[in-house]
Amino acid sequence: MAEKRDYYEVLGVDKGASESEIKKAYRQLAKKYHPDMNPGDKEAEQKFKEASEAYAVLGDEEKRKQYDQFGHAAFDGSGGAGGFDFSNMGDIFGDIFGGDIFGDLFGTRRRNPNEPMKGANVRSSIRISFEDAVSGCEKEMDITLKEECTTCHGSGAKPGTTPTTCKKCGGKGKVVFSQQSLFGMVQNVASCPECHGTGKIIKDKCSDCYGTGYISKNKKIQVSIPAGIDNGQSIRMREKGEPGTNGGPRGDLLIEVIISKHPYFQRQDRDIFSRVNISYAQAALGGEIKINTVDGDIIYEVKPGTQPGTKIRLKGKGVPTLRNKNVRGDHYVTLNVQVPTKLSDKAKEALREFDALSGDSLQSFVDTSKKGKGFFGKNIFKNND
Ligand SMILES: [Zn+2]
Ligand SMILES: [Zn+2]
Repeated sequence: MAEKRDYYEVLGVDKGASESEIKKAYRQLAKKYHPDMNPGDKEAEQKFKEASEAYAVLGDEEKRKQYDQFGHAAFDGSGGAGGFDFSNMGDIFGDIFGGDIFGDLFGTRRRNPNEPMKGANVRSSIRISFEDAVSGCEKEMDITLKEECTTCHGSGAKPGTTPTTCKKCGGKGKVVFSQQSLFGMVQNVASCPECHGTGKIIKDKCSDCYGTGYISKNKKIQVSIPAGIDNGQSIRMREKGEPGTNGGPRGDLLIEVIISKHPYFQRQDRDIFSRVNISYAQAALGGEIKINTVDGDIIYEVKPGTQPGTKIRLKGKGVPTLRNKNVRGDHYVTLNVQVPTKLSDKAKEALREFDALSGDSLQSFVDTSKKGKGFFGKNIFKNND
């Protein structure tokens, strides 16, 4: 088991924090990590227990004094004031949860199921090309969305009938039950099992939507993708998701953009990277080369004596920022000097001549071998392949 964290640290308060500060800190944590708010989340549950334990001590004047003096040892039986007793936790819960915390906690959950409620968000994705991401584009995409059933107008009940109020929850959609927990009796709120939280029972179901009130339909949606969008970013289309209930607005449609790899452009944030081959003569003598950019081909003047791997910067030829199309990153081009591989006899002769005029690299070792031989004679290494 991990070492116990300091109780003050757990609650995020100073050692000198007042009683009300400690209480406030705990309320916030309890709200955040309450198991009802985080169903199935083990980490939240652990945090909740940790905070509750810290509050059980720091929220009690006497225990806090002991803790300040002995630390965790005060409650683990190895010293100080003896073992820590969880049986008092019930009181603390009554105190804390009896107050406004339940109101806060369930303010959003204990809502009337007949209130207008926003529909669920729908997630989808779209694949676009590298160029489309740079310049922005309009795309049409197919999406399956729930639409209100036109036969029953979303009620789910057969035309001519109306849903009745659920008897189990009295139309609230929620049921409250008490549960024994580590901290004593805890009141839990759950979705009503009879009506599944709707507060209504449909006896005669609409035959078109099978009582759901919705029908799934394929729709074509126009998506505006802004220039500069990056791989993995999402576009939010407000109120294009699932329909709301009781007249509430639709949820949102969230479209994740996936950008296809480009054969020779790479992107990093706003900058573009590519490589261009130039000839040995172009590198040595300088000259005009053609560079492909997202704006089309440009002519670039290579300086005489350009070295292999030289990186040039084409300012403002990168990707636009999402906020302003005119603010763009740069395009960096690495110049790849190519060594000729297929030379005619005439070209070879010219190259030898060139070499003789520029340092004589082809002759130098032959000359040295004549003057001073290595131990095993001419020390030339050759691979046999
Ligand atoms: Zn229907
Ligand atoms: Zn019910």
